[in-house]
Amino acid sequence: MHPFALSRAHDVSAAIAAHAQDPELAFIAGGTDLLGLIKDRATLPALLLDINGLPDMARIDARPEGGLRIGALARMSDVAVHPEVRNRFPVIAEALLCSASGQLRNMASIGGNIMQRTRCAYFRDEDDLPCNKRRPGSGCAARHGLNRNHAIFGWSDGCVATNPSDLAVALAALDAQVIVRGASGERSIAFAEFHRLPGTTPETETVLKRGDLIVAIEVPPRPEGRASHYLNLGVTYAELLARNGLPHLIGDGSYDPVPEAEGAKAIFSFSAVYAEVRVDPELGLVRLQRFVGAYDAGRIINPKTARSQAIGGIIWGVGQALLEQSETDPALGRFLNRNYSGYLVPSNADIPDPDAHFVGDFDAEASPLGAKGLGELTAVSVAPAIANAVYHATGKRVRDLPITVEKVM
Ligand SMILES: Cc1cc2nc3c(=O)[nH]c(=O)nc-3n(C[C@H](O)[C@H](O)[C@H](O)COP(=O)(O)OP(=O)(O)OC[C@H]3O[C@@H](n4cnc5c(N)ncnc54)[C@H](O)[C@@H]3O)c2cc1C
Ligand code: SF4
Repeated sequence: MHPFALSRAHDVSAAIAAHAQDPELAFIAGGTDLLGLIKDRATLPALLLDINGLPDMARIDARPEGGLRIGALARMSDVAVHPEVRNRFPVIAEALLCSASGQLRNMASIGGNIMQRTRCAYFRDEDDLPCNKRRPGSGCAARHGLNRNHAIFGWSDGCVATNPSDLAVALAALDAQVIVRGASGERSIAFAEFHRLPGTTPETETVLKRGDLIVAIEVPPRPEGRASHYLNLGVTYAELLARNGLPHLIGDGSYDPVPEAEGAKAIFSFSAVYAEVRVDPELGLVRLQRFVGAYDAGRIINPKTARSQAIGGIIWGVGQALLEQSETDPALGRFLNRNYSGYLVPSNADIPDPDAHFVGDFDAEASPLGAKGLGELTAVSVAPAIANAVYHATGKRVRDLPITVEKVM
């Protein structure tokens, strides 16, 4: 862990002055983002100034004209359950409730939430991979790397990361203002202007300057706010195009194989699996009757652990095929089955005695030991085999898992 000094602020002006004077100083509120960034060595402040003791910054005021003022130190969980927040702007409460976890929301502040940094895996990687946001000028590993959750619009050649704050989406939609106090007094920044697009300086994410302290968020009165909701849903490609008035998107790319790859050989493992099910014609209940898997994983060094791995994979796959499912409330976006009383996994009665056979041989291309991998291979083919068996038994082709009674009936 990077060593740092910690001090506590009790006076707003003194906190602002200290931040303005010392580029090595960072404000800390709940610490739920900042401490993670320090552990990942993405930021290395020498001094943390704890602002939790600053007066009047944790209040939530419902204004008589219908707006809200939320102190920057108000906790996410307190804001989410505040009756007037829920009444006037359900979108704020719902965006907060589908953020992070209960424990994190109890610690995390509103100011810290809108200042949290991107979840781009390269930015957070402690191995200091190329990332212009973390190390300006080093490049952007995500451009041609892991970027499935990255930006479609607003990105630049320098950075394609997104902002992870759910609350920020709600505040932008409500035309909220960020109230900031700095060396030259207090000012108000329109929420939509608060975060910057990456451009050529992705390391600068907001319009704040050194010495700026967020003191509150103000949400203007909006009668339609009472009907607002936050849904954390994916959108289809067609919806994205329609929203942005585009007929299509065109992307160009090229790939030159690296010389070292010449003559290289793939070392896949293979499996063939067979499932037999019984389906109750009146209740639609699916019971796995028999399961047989045959695996080519090269030389099996330890037959006992290999068989355990295969059986574990089969049981995992049965859960995926027939039972496991996260239930979310469509209005609140909350997980409803957050423990094992509602989240179903296979138990002994769900699993027949599975059969695992190993048919592979010493594979000299794979490794000097002749072994190949036997990891998730054993799980991935199980759900398709069970879905096929259900189709053979009922004529119902179920394509979204788990295969529950209502899909079979
Ligand atoms: C496992 C995990 C899952 C998460 N999932 C989600 C999610 O689904 N949705 C979501 O929106 N968020 C998510 N978060 C992020 C979480 O909401 C933030 O970590 C939290 O809101 C940060 O608040 P904090 O008070 O702990 O900030 P801190 O960590 O204390 O500070 C974060 C940054 O804000 C600065 N800062 C704090 N207060 C002020 C202020 N008043 N003025 C100026 N600068 C300030 C700090 O200097 C620091 O740079 C997740 C976090 C974790 C760890
Ligand atoms: S997308 Fe941005 S944060 Fe991610 S690697 Fe590229 S520069 Fe870094």
